[in-house]
Amino acid sequence: MVSIKKKKTKEIKVGQIAIGGNNPIRVQSMCNTNTKDISATVKQIHQLEKVGCEIVRIAIPDTESAKCVKNIKKQINIPLVADIHYNYKLALECLKQGIDKIRINPGNISKDKLKIIIKEAKKYKVPIRIGVNIGSLPKDIIKKFGYSPKAMVESALKTIKLFESLDFYDVIVSLKSSDILQTIEANTLFSEKSKYPLHLGITEAGTIRNGTIKSSIGIGYLLLNGIGDTIRVSLTAEPTEEVLAGHSILRSLGLRKRARLISCPTCGRAKIDVIKIANEVGKRLAKIQNPIKVAVLGCFVNVKEAKIADVGIAGAGKYGILFRKGKVIKKVEKKGLIEELLKEVNKIL
Ligand code: SF4
Repeated sequence: MVSIKKKKTKEIKVGQIAIGGNNPIRVQSMCNTNTKDISATVKQIHQLEKVGCEIVRIAIPDTESAKCVKNIKKQINIPLVADIHYNYKLALECLKQGIDKIRINPGNISKDKLKIIIKEAKKYKVPIRIGVNIGSLPKDIIKKFGYSPKAMVESALKTIKLFESLDFYDVIVSLKSSDILQTIEANTLFSEKSKYPLHLGITEAGTIRNGTIKSSIGIGYLLLNGIGDTIRVSLTAEPTEEVLAGHSILRSLGLRKRARLISCPTCGRAKIDVIKIANEVGKRLAKIQNPIKVAVLGCFVNVKEAKIADVGIAGAGKYGILFRKGKVIKKVEKKGLIEELLKEVNKIL
């Protein structure tokens, strides 16, 4: 039987959450709100928290956005990461505001400016992610290695050397490309050479369906090989979808104990709106860290599937039924089915 042997990496603390070492693989996402719209950003972060997001990143395109960090942080419960490009001063302002982690791209910040950020982050004890992206590699590296996985790794290692020369070791690394094979090769190569934790992701992966498939293959392959400490599934969709996809990948590989939804594909026999109900139940189960199996079935002909589930609902004529391990417990009005199911789930938990 195939088993996953996770490569040991250095543990890095991001706010109250630890990444790497023996910690579970963390699921991250990024807000797509205007950071300056504090209430919209906080609202989105709360939605992300609800579906099990463990770390969230926000864009910091200007000083006003950086100045919002303190206010946003006050209203949320998960660590906050600042996404910094080009302007080192934005990183300094975020540090002043109490950010939990900084993400920089070594391809668009000069060595001298980076040194200033590192020194300041050290003072505040804030970790930094070196986010290497194949589309924005430094010119000298491209000259030597071209746009290749090797170039991505070289860029990360060179930047790490600079960090270490300043006695800074709170580093997380990401090596992203929109090409799955390049991402796999870069991360595999890096993990052979370094113990710093890896943040995995396929950049610009696409819409919900294509992006999830692409990410599942790329991130899934690396995780199966024991590589990766935190993941972000980049999707052209609502950020909550990224988190749900991330948890699905981890759950599929047995890396996270989460409630499992068993839902039928529906057919002409269905007596309830399985697609709508299953989607809603899936969202409501997302945060449950227990491998309970919950079924949503269009009708009750498939008793075998129902028996596998610890608890479930099925359509039955004008009503719905609630069952446990294939045994019907009660008849329920269709409009109250989801709530009854979740009540029963909570009883079991
Ligand atoms: S459980 Fe019922 S509705 Fe769902 S696919 Fe099977 S027969 Fe069809």
